[in-house]
Amino acid sequence: MRLNLFILLLYSIIAYPQSNYPQDYFVNPLEIPTSLSGTFAELRSNHFHSGVDIKTRQRQGFKVLSAASGFVSRIKVTFFGYGKALYITHPNGYTTVYAHLQKFAPEIEAYVKKHQYEKESYEIELFPKADDLKVSKGDVVAFSGNSGGSLAPHLHFEIRDNQERPLNPMLFGLDVKDTTPPFVTALYAYPMDKTSHVNHSNVRQKLRLIPLQNGDYSVENIEAFGKIGIGIVTNDRQDYAPNKNGVYNIQTFLNGSQAYELDFRRFSFDETRHINRLIDYEHYKKKKQYIQKLYNDENPLSIIKPALSDGFLVIKDSADYMYKIKVNDFKNNPTWITMEIKGIKNDSLNPEIQKTTPYFIQAHHATTLKEGRVSVNIFKDSFYDDFYMDFEVHNDTLILHDDTLPVKKSIAISYDISNYKEVDKERLYIANLLGYSKHPVYSASERKGNQLTTLTKNLGTYALAIDTIPPTIRPGNFKDKQWVSNYQYLKIKIDDTPSGISNYRATVNGKWILMEYDYKTKTLTYNFNDGIITDTKNNLKLIVTDNVGNSSTFETLFYRK
Ligand SMILES: [Zn+2]
Repeated sequence: MRLNLFILLLYSIIAYPQSNYPQDYFVNPLEIPTSLSGTFAELRSNHFHSGVDIKTRQRQGFKVLSAASGFVSRIKVTFFGYGKALYITHPNGYTTVYAHLQKFAPEIEAYVKKHQYEKESYEIELFPKADDLKVSKGDVVAFSGNSGGSLAPHLHFEIRDNQERPLNPMLFGLDVKDTTPPFVTALYAYPMDKTSHVNHSNVRQKLRLIPLQNGDYSVENIEAFGKIGIGIVTNDRQDYAPNKNGVYNIQTFLNGSQAYELDFRRFSFDETRHINRLIDYEHYKKKKQYIQKLYNDENPLSIIKPALSDGFLVIKDSADYMYKIKVNDFKNNPTWITMEIKGIKNDSLNPEIQKTTPYFIQAHHATTLKEGRVSVNIFKDSFYDDFYMDFEVHNDTLILHDDTLPVKKSIAISYDISNYKEVDKERLYIANLLGYSKHPVYSASERKGNQLTTLTKNLGTYALAIDTIPPTIRPGNFKDKQWVSNYQYLKIKIDDTPSGISNYRATVNGKWILMEYDYKTKTLTYNFNDGIITDTKNNLKLIVTDNVGNSSTFETLFYRK
């Protein structure tokens, strides 16, 4: 009897996990109805999305409310990433995060500016004490924006637990209308070893999906043998937005019993990059589409439920199998995919010949490759699997395989630059040559004497490049010697090719002024409300420096009463 009760309790915890999270603790951070352009843990480049993206009607400036009482525990302002971000810690141990903000609420804005002027830097990270900036549930703490890496106005909202792990905010009652089940775009089968095959082939096969009237799918019957993995392309759509969002849960069943489960409820930042192991990385790099593996090939991701099997199908000759996939959104709208697999062994297939090179990389061993003036340090466990690497050096061009294998840990690429003239050494950088046009993209390069080194998590083609062109600076909304008495902002456009902007410093009559940098519009903005400028005649001086140290100085006069 007691055991039954225990099982019942256990069942209720497993079946109703939502009940573990407080449902009325957090209020909606925006006052408009919630519609999402991004769901929690959806698949992004090199990471899972750590929050929800709440749509703001293509506009900025909506009031952002503190989801619960607490205190501002962290403020971060960066050119890229989250842009202007606010972190509020609550007495129940959770922290809420609000990102891509336009600006903070007046009291917080004043606090941030004070520190920006002290540090003479727009980029800043602050950890206020519990008494500094207390907030109550529903207080306006900021205004929604488009700052940092945001590509359209929205509010990025997160809930993190006391170990800094982001959780799906929907678990806490954030509500979005969703009556539409997920949809499936493609399904693939991967023969996993030399003897396995699918539909008379031993390489990846795209399976033919047959949409059914009720929204489910069947799959054209397949013949297979041996160890097989299945991969799926699936997304969810909610009721009031056309956005293709991520799904919440995927399960597979073989002959009626559950085989595998992916559960997108919580993850930690130190595992987020293993997304590159969860997806077919080569396919993503070539087609920009995420095929999620429904099998675990030694992936430490916590979203893969450990209790079940590894998800592989092991198909025997002359046996029949029924394989089902269930994809759920958060609102438990299921989509089922059903496929019948016939086990048929085919001995006449020629196994694919694996390409070999002289550079066999053992994933669990460190190694150094060297040729000419280039050396590549590969650290232990930089890769998931052993493989034959392409490694070629032609003068200053390094072919380091191609970007079709995920890299776990940074690799160090070093160039000996002793053959360059002293003046040029200063302006050299290591570039990652991308795309068909092989355009050079600056890879953060550090020089020690005659060694120039970059750390990278991308395989591909690299080359030494030189940047001798200083940044450009031109006034945005005013001219030299202009009266700007009625202006609220002073705007200046800055740009740099090829290495990119590293930093800038603006002063008026010798005093540092805060200019906010938006890299997307290449604009620096000063707000006259800061009250720094009190003279009539003003000398503005701006120095902009690029990533290799070329700098430009711009000076202008403006008048103001
Ligand atoms: Zn986001």
